[in-house]
Amino acid sequence: MSNVNELTEEQLYQRYEQLKAQLERYKSENMTLDMSRGKPSPDQLSLSEEMLALLTADELITDDGLDTRNYGQLDGIPEAKSWFASILEVAPSQVIVGGNSSLSTMHDTVARGLLKGVEEEAKPWSSYPSIKFLCPSPGYDRHFAICEFLGIDMIPVDMTNEGPNMDQVEALVLEDETIKGIWCVPKYSNPEGVTYSEAVVKRLASMKTKATDFRIFWDNAYVIHHLTDTPDSLVSILEEAKKAGYPNRPYVFSSTSKVTFPGAGISAFVSSPDNIAFTKKQLSFQTIGADKINQLRHIRFFEKIGGVEELMKKHAAIIKPKFDLVIDTLQQKLGNKNIATWTEPNGGYFISVNTENGCAARVVALCKEVGLTLTGAGATYPYGKDPLDRNIRIAPSFPTLEELQKAMNVFCDCIELAAIEGKVEKSKA
Ligand code: PMP
Repeated sequence: MSNVNELTEEQLYQRYEQLKAQLERYKSENMTLDMSRGKPSPDQLSLSEEMLALLTADELITDDGLDTRNYGQLDGIPEAKSWFASILEVAPSQVIVGGNSSLSTMHDTVARGLLKGVEEEAKPWSSYPSIKFLCPSPGYDRHFAICEFLGIDMIPVDMTNEGPNMDQVEALVLEDETIKGIWCVPKYSNPEGVTYSEAVVKRLASMKTKATDFRIFWDNAYVIHHLTDTPDSLVSILEEAKKAGYPNRPYVFSSTSKVTFPGAGISAFVSSPDNIAFTKKQLSFQTIGADKINQLRHIRFFEKIGGVEELMKKHAAIIKPKFDLVIDTLQQKLGNKNIATWTEPNGGYFISVNTENGCAARVVALCKEVGLTLTGAGATYPYGKDPLDRNIRIAPSFPTLEELQKAMNVFCDCIELAAIEGKVEKSKA
């Protein structure tokens, strides 16, 4: 079957009937498949099982004699600070090691900005009638949810294949003092798998902003999550911002959620010396310190297996065939039909698919009817509103290859049905 736009009316109807019948067959199979969230599969979780049995009671002391069982060390144990420092290419003194979730650190960082401001002399963001964040879209739904929850207005900015559209970003931040932040997933972005180019990083770091307390929320969640032997490389936002005279602009976040155990890993907040000092002072009111036993357990595990790179290679060996299956199936089933485009990332957890305009919500609903749950249409845009109703995020990590093949067959047929349905309705009108 070729380009859907070139089918005769008769061919279109024929294909429409075929696809409807196919959907009925899928329905009769009573499937329950889920590709909605980027969760590691059980065999990926097993890769870190050994960590659980690593520390006996007399191994709970850090190299410099700190007893991880007790209170203390607000910014984390030195081993964990050094580990994140090496992954994120900064000095250990620039790292605060947190608890099990970088997302909660991001939430709290925004909340503190609202309540207290981001530096000693800055006004709390909540003292403005309203403030705004720029949201490169498609992007990560939970970033947008933080803004929505905390009452921060969101301005969508287009994503390009090298990061946010910087002409849009620069024009906006230059004019509006109430634009206080931008969300960025700079490496293997969620959902498109884009790594920001050097030019984009430099422009973000050096652009003129009307707000003197503007912050870049640099969520480097997928910094070591490569799928190939030729990983993307990302320029350091902290270095570039320092060079440009805005050392305090970037807040960097990361975690081991998709390295060891999501929800039971360790996270990091990384920034300039001034921001770290300011944040530590604020954090001291919230906590005496995060779970140091888990920090030490992680470090000893990485040491034992010869470095985290080995673990990430094993993850890639499990995930890469799933990415390949998704991309091959899209290519085989939709490749020449001119009704969808998709990304082919070098890392991360997602593939982003664009249907024809106006079809994404329908595709998600059709898939749901036959038992396949996808991330909601629109979820990748602020307020859940995809202006073109075309973007769908595919999360291929959790299902088995067999389940994934079934899911992708359903998905591709639903994309085609949604596209053809529209054309059939038009030709009837
Ligand atoms: N940031 C991004 C871009 C993510 O995709 C995810 C997980 N889906 C997170 C953060 C969540 O991180 P954590 O588990 O450390 O809260």
